[in-house]
Amino acid sequence: MLTKAPKGTKDILPYDSYKWQYIENKIRYITAQFGFREVRTPIFEHTELFERGVGGTTDIVQKEMYTFEDKGGRSITLKPEGTAGAARAYIENKLYSKPQPIKMYYLTPVFRYERPQAGRLREHHQFGVEVFGADDASMDAEIINLAITLFRELDIKNLELNINSIGCPNCRPVYHKALKEYLGGSLDKLCPTCNERFSKNPLRILDCKEEGCKKVVSGAPIMLDYLCDDCKAHFEALKSYLKALKLDFKVNPMIVRGLDYYTKTVFEIISNNIGSQGTVCGGGRYDGLVGECGGPSTPGVGFGMGIERLLLVMENQGIQIQDSNRYDAFFVTMGVNARLKAFELVDRLRKLGVKADMDHTNRSVKAQFKYADKQNAPLVCVLGEDELKQDKITIRHMDSGQEMLIPIEKVDQYIMSNLDGRE
Ligand code: ATP
Ligand code: MG
Repeated sequence: MLTKAPKGTKDILPYDSYKWQYIENKIRYITAQFGFREVRTPIFEHTELFERGVGGTTDIVQKEMYTFEDKGGRSITLKPEGTAGAARAYIENKLYSKPQPIKMYYLTPVFRYERPQAGRLREHHQFGVEVFGADDASMDAEIINLAITLFRELDIKNLELNINSIGCPNCRPVYHKALKEYLGGSLDKLCPTCNERFSKNPLRILDCKEEGCKKVVSGAPIMLDYLCDDCKAHFEALKSYLKALKLDFKVNPMIVRGLDYYTKTVFEIISNNIGSQGTVCGGGRYDGLVGECGGPSTPGVGFGMGIERLLLVMENQGIQIQDSNRYDAFFVTMGVNARLKAFELVDRLRKLGVKADMDHTNRSVKAQFKYADKQNAPLVCVLGEDELKQDKITIRHMDSGQEMLIPIEKVDQYIMSNLDGRE
């Protein structure tokens, strides 16, 4: 146990973290372009918030939460998604009294007690956006565009945008009735969970992954045929905005999303490159959420995107990420005096913005070179007693093997003019 991380968790190791930083940098750049600002909410909240904000009929609340009692006897839950915390922060900090809309984004770990498999973890990470105070369908199209812009920036291809509308409290009950009439005769063919859903939230049966349930719902009535005028107009407007952006989409009546608070727009962006856990991004509109959590009635729309799944898609599509943390220059030294000089030079270079380092293990020159090579340092600076006597330093270009002997006082200038691939 001591040397094993809990099931369903993963370390992001020093040699891999550059991939995460690369994606995070793209996210920060694109969200800024779209006018979103970062929000950071606690990793844990009162359990009640998720019960209310995510919904009692969801898999998350019924089976997946990490809930415990703290030493003060409060029921606390580790964040199982990002929206409820953002909504709570919006209400508690009275952000509704500021100019609307409030556009926020977050990068956060998320905790769900699930059966771990490829693309499904107990701790995963999400990039999410939430917009409060804008009800127009242009906002829904805007966040979809943001997600797709990120995929484009990351060079990800072959993603399919699926959209649907699940109506509102006006039209959904009528649909629920029709759906229940249809499903009522086949309850014995539905899984136990769907039998529970049947009375509490029949819409969720469309979302079930069990083969038996999928078969039953394949001919079921669809919400799109039951939308009220307002929801219908909203959905048509969404399609027009997406068309204006020339974004391909598929209307998929089976997309209902796992959370209870969605209204009108729901969408998923799906990859067929990573097997059955193919949804990379899921989101939609939740006009009822802020009111449900005790705030003034406020429209909202947002999405959550799994970073691990994003990385899986990139890996499976052979997309290379450049390691922006690798050294620009590494110093190989022989003897105490050379080491002292290199120590000083490394510091000088760092102050100029160069990623420089040297050996700290007293190993052989050969071993130092081997290490520098493993780190992919493009320039290796060799400093021994001979070089020191002449006030010179040898610089080897690792790609070509070419070596230059240059005066020590010129070393920073030389390295600065030979930095490759730096922005
Ligand atoms: P799924 O149907 O795959 O369980 P979900 O509907 O529970 O997904 P959301 O709550 O919408 O997912 O979360 C948003 C995104 O977070 C998902 O589209 C997915 O990319 C990612 N995600 C969700 N659960 C996990 C998990 N257990 N491990 C890794 N990524 C996840
Ligand atoms: Mg899930």
